[in-house]
Amino acid sequence: MESITAGCCPAFSFLSSSVPKRIRRSNSYISNCCNYYDYGYKSEKKNKNDINGANFLNSSQHLYYSHSQNLKTIILHNNKALGQVEVEQLEGSKADFGYENLDWPSPNDEIPFWKREFPLWDLASRASAGVEKDSDLMHIIHVTAEMAPIAKVGGLGDVVTGLARACLLRGHNVLVMLPFYECIPKDYINGLALINTFSSYHDGNWVPTNAYQGEVSDIPVIFIEPTNHFFKGQNIYGGSYNELEAYLFFSRACLEWMQVTGRQPDIIHVHEWQTGALPLLYWDMYQYLSMQKPRVILTIHNMEHYGECSKEQLSKCGLDGSVYATEDKAIDERTIGHNPERLSLLKGGIVFSNAVVTVSPTYLKETLCSGWLASTMIRNRDKYSGILNGIDTAMWNPATDIYLPAKFDAHNIMGKKICKLFVQRGLGLTVNDLSLHTYSSHQVPLVICITRLVRQKGLHLIIQAIKRVEELGGQMVVLGKASEGQVEREFQDLAKLHGIGSSIRILLMYSEELSHMLYAAADMVLVPSIYEPCGLAQMIGMRYGAIPIVRKTGGLADTVFDMDNESNSDIANGFVFEGIDEASLNWALERAFLHYREKPSEWDATVQKVMQIDNSWNNTAGKYIDVYNSIRVRG
Ligand code: ADP
Repeated sequence: MESITAGCCPAFSFLSSSVPKRIRRSNSYISNCCNYYDYGYKSEKKNKNDINGANFLNSSQHLYYSHSQNLKTIILHNNKALGQVEVEQLEGSKADFGYENLDWPSPNDEIPFWKREFPLWDLASRASAGVEKDSDLMHIIHVTAEMAPIAKVGGLGDVVTGLARACLLRGHNVLVMLPFYECIPKDYINGLALINTFSSYHDGNWVPTNAYQGEVSDIPVIFIEPTNHFFKGQNIYGGSYNELEAYLFFSRACLEWMQVTGRQPDIIHVHEWQTGALPLLYWDMYQYLSMQKPRVILTIHNMEHYGECSKEQLSKCGLDGSVYATEDKAIDERTIGHNPERLSLLKGGIVFSNAVVTVSPTYLKETLCSGWLASTMIRNRDKYSGILNGIDTAMWNPATDIYLPAKFDAHNIMGKKICKLFVQRGLGLTVNDLSLHTYSSHQVPLVICITRLVRQKGLHLIIQAIKRVEELGGQMVVLGKASEGQVEREFQDLAKLHGIGSSIRILLMYSEELSHMLYAAADMVLVPSIYEPCGLAQMIGMRYGAIPIVRKTGGLADTVFDMDNESNSDIANGFVFEGIDEASLNWALERAFLHYREKPSEWDATVQKVMQIDNSWNNTAGKYIDVYNSIRVRG
């Protein structure tokens, strides 16, 4: 196909003839937290040589003085008899630091520590500092099935929020359109109001549909609420309605809303198979109504989910399904000659979008070489690019994170050690007597794995890691949610087995709050995926000072570089293994443990180094802006 130029349907010219802040009460737990930011306390870094009697420090360590020159040295004791953590401040005034006021959790707490109440995020002021505005501004509408934190199942939600915020901060007019899932917590939405009621087509009927407007972490959102049963239920996915038909409806309803409200965005940005029909609907219908300006971009977050669909189902949104059942459009070529043949909404989206992006350069190469969609990607190579995801550094910031019992940054990682102790106490993991200013904390590494429990994520390697970490004398916490019953049961058995032990915890649930605390507490974050289009856990982990241990695939290969590879020394930031067998994983874990225990000062230096790596959207949103600019219609 020719390279995409603004002003035409990307797929087939013949188509032109076919018509048709969240608010929660702050509580004493948070306001008493150790947090030199909260206290308005300014610290000043001093080298060990500046500090009398500080000869327990090695060259990579620093102490922090307040302006009143109080020595900020804290020792924590684990009083096993009392089941308490005692905090002793060696010198200086107690009021300055506040660790002693922490409400330390225990596994017996009536309310688990991650379900306590937390104060309001104030993201706008934190995110905007230092971002330059673009000169050539656009109107961008994201149409998506997920958005963090209100409707997040995995990385898709994070990406939409992070990219939308980055573009907003650069001055663009950005809107997110999301199904109004019944399970969305309304108290996270600022200024929620019904703004229009319109009708959108589904299966021979026009369904009355409400459009609500509100702000989610300072990003304007339109919520689409059909008055039928779609999007009802307690979860984002897996409700008792036909999901495929619900997203076909949603894709059309978003265009219908733009049409009835006279919107002419420069860019409609769709994500994943769920919104893959939108480009077809746009070029087939809405482009001939009043919407000539928009151009469509599709981001593929995971090619494994391709939106299998019958011709009849596609016809339910008003398209003629049989028109799209050809190899150069939307048919799944593996089903040609079968009865029935099947379509793929993702493939249709690829063919009919003006630009297609996937979420890392390595995944781009992988998808051009393997998988049934490779031939489609090759045919569409000139409009296909790989842009590494960023992380939302306003949401993921250990210096301001509302969920953390102690804040920290790359220049002061003491708060991280408090977080580790806090989590260990709260989950009932063994806590060694430790002094925060010595390296005794380097005895028991804490490994975390936060993931959807699906095969892609390397389930057998996660199970092996639990075993090996315990054998190696470390601790491991898995936070994961399974969607398959068999996987759920397997991990439930493991959770029971380890539930009362001293070193392993497996928590089978989704908890945004706990995920933040675990990233902050962890020494290492494990991402042993079989394949991983981009992966956010390793980037978030690094931002919170957890060293990644990853399998070399997709975006993991683009972001983590092995510490034992001398040619990498400038960029080395973790431990990488290649095989999908247990021995390969063991080798990486063993090397990580060895570094942690044998080279503690280098480890702490690496923690500080990885926290300063810029994986922010500010860094990568510009690449999306370039793609938007390459397809938009000017004037
Ligand atoms: P994917 O999109 O395949 O799920 P990513 O690594 O791109 O994987 O993104 C996963 C995101 O979801 C991260 O923000 C991670 O912290 C979060 N996450 C995954 N499972 C859970 C869970 N059980 N509880 C809280 N957050 C989770």
